[in-house]
Amino acid sequence: MQQLPIVEVKSKLLDRLTKNKITVLVGETGSGKSTQVPQFIWSLDRDRERIAVTQPRRVAAINLAKRVAEETRTELGSEVGYTVRFQNASGPQTCIKFLTDGMLLRELLLFPTLKRYTTIILDEAHERTVVTDLLMGFLKNLVEIRHNLRLIVMSATMDADRFSRFFNDAEVLYVQGRRFPVDRLYLNKPVEDVVDATVRTALQINIGEATGDVLAFLAGQEDIDKATDLLNDFAGSMPKGAPEMVILPLYAALPQAQQQLVFEPVTGLKRKIILATNIAETSLTISGVRYVIDSGTHKVKVWRHDLGLDSLLTMPISKSNAAQRMGRAGREGPGKCYRLYTEEDYLGLRPQSEPEIERCDVAFPILTLKSAGVKDILRWSWLERPSKGSIMSALTQLYALKALDNNGDITSLGRKMSVLPLSPHLSVVLLEAQDIGITAAVLDIVSCLSIENLIMNPHPDKRDEVNEKRLPFVAASGGMGDLIVLRNYMLHYKSLASSEERKAWCKELYINSRAMSNVEDIRKQLERYLKTSQSNGVPKSMKNFDDEEDRSGYYAKSDLNEQIVQCFLRGFVANTALALPGKTFKTIATGQTINIHPSSSVFGRKVDAVMYTEYIFTTKAYARNVSPINLEWLQKIAPHFLGRRSAGSEE
Ligand code: ADP
Ligand code: MG
Repeated sequence: MQQLPIVEVKSKLLDRLTKNKITVLVGETGSGKSTQVPQFIWSLDRDRERIAVTQPRRVAAINLAKRVAEETRTELGSEVGYTVRFQNASGPQTCIKFLTDGMLLRELLLFPTLKRYTTIILDEAHERTVVTDLLMGFLKNLVEIRHNLRLIVMSATMDADRFSRFFNDAEVLYVQGRRFPVDRLYLNKPVEDVVDATVRTALQINIGEATGDVLAFLAGQEDIDKATDLLNDFAGSMPKGAPEMVILPLYAALPQAQQQLVFEPVTGLKRKIILATNIAETSLTISGVRYVIDSGTHKVKVWRHDLGLDSLLTMPISKSNAAQRMGRAGREGPGKCYRLYTEEDYLGLRPQSEPEIERCDVAFPILTLKSAGVKDILRWSWLERPSKGSIMSALTQLYALKALDNNGDITSLGRKMSVLPLSPHLSVVLLEAQDIGITAAVLDIVSCLSIENLIMNPHPDKRDEVNEKRLPFVAASGGMGDLIVLRNYMLHYKSLASSEERKAWCKELYINSRAMSNVEDIRKQLERYLKTSQSNGVPKSMKNFDDEEDRSGYYAKSDLNEQIVQCFLRGFVANTALALPGKTFKTIATGQTINIHPSSSVFGRKVDAVMYTEYIFTTKAYARNVSPINLEWLQKIAPHFLGRRSAGSEE
């Protein structure tokens, strides 16, 4: 193997990294930062050094751990391991641990000095996820307290000054990458359909260009699945002499075994066509790529205040993203980058993407700070402080969820919520379920909601057939809505004895069977998390909710399904809407008009009010996972929320 650029500067690098408490390390993608730097540090003292390396994405954490375990010839999960949400392959003996930023944040709340570690590496800092941003704030303070803690902030883009300034002018080191020239090709006029353009470009490359794999960046799973299908249709009719196309999708929700395929080299007259989200932009390195197709779009999480939920929207990328994507074509030799937009459009792109914290819901970050005992939220060491408006909206939400009390202090419920690996809404639901003794049933549903695309959308010509198969489960829900239907699926799935039966049944109902088997895993993990949140800091005997309020009233006499919906309402009070004449609804909190998604069991039914746990925007604003609710429940469960709203204290 050719030596990585970073290996050539190992001793120089180690000299600086050990002299500084905080270092910012900038190096091009593929230069060896993530795989080599942790090993360099470990080599300083194999018995003592304990290194945590954070990644914004779980796939990256898992893959890096695998790779480094291989390179160090150790067994994955022993000296080198990983911890990601719902999966742990590490133990007390682990010296290099790759973990998602969320998992390190959780450790920080449970063990505030992180004394296990001698070195913390915040990798992919340029991505500016909310959690990495938060970690920077916490670690800046921690490094002052812990004199033997080393912090390395790693970034793939050059704008590292921001980090250096934040850490009181920490030293910035640059690692030169190997880079070959890449031809940039723009379109003459914008395209209507970017999936179609991607497919055509890929075919054109496959027929006309020399060997080398293709990496295409698309916004999300939908586009990728479409492009995969189209390319597979064409694969059979390639002209003689053209390489056989091996079409490989790559996105976060894809099962791991399938993700792994993109790393496997092909032999003979074959060409890999990888269709990826921005997951392949900087965090994963795939060798063999010579051609990049850049659709110019990606999905970003955006907080919709009017709907009370974060949602993923497709947006144009930034110039910095475009440069990273292009760079993927020039890692091993000269390459080509096909930009599916005009040069003029390129020039109009913003230089950097906005940090997540400026556009997302900050309820979780605020809860984390409160849980860590931060009193003055506004004056905390923010790398980028969210606007006062979004802080206020987060505080209001947390109050509505009873994570904060009237004084804005954290409650015992809030403390438990902060260490559960779920959104604050789902944490509340789960803890409430525990309180009233319906944990098992609610865990079924919460686990299902933690997986994307569990219930798939059938192709239009199959829709009626599939709906018919789903009908008994809908009927069995007694009209209680999608959450109960989801649980009915789960119960039936669990009742099937063999994995063949399970698979066949999933196929018939268009349920993602791999995802379904993951649900069971997640359920086990969540159960374990519930136990640790009980044993950390909060006495076991302590109830999750203050019992000055009498809750027996609204749970009494209701059957299990009704209790489940009421329990969810506790977490989703802000995601409720009242029926308008016709098919639309109006959200109670903000008066926004919303439609019920046609896939919902509540679609087309006459109900007074609904609660929803998910929102998507296609041609219209759609609520998904909908349950009819009784307005009385809402008044009983959330008088503090309704009262505040009607008093008009918002903003
Ligand atoms: P950086 O973090 O600087 O982007 P990495 O340390 O992730 O770089 O990767 C360095 C090099 O190691 C890559 O260019 C690639 O050649 C190789 N590599 C990393 N991960 C893998 C893997 N899973 N399979 C094969 N090669 C890999
Ligand atoms: Mg890296």
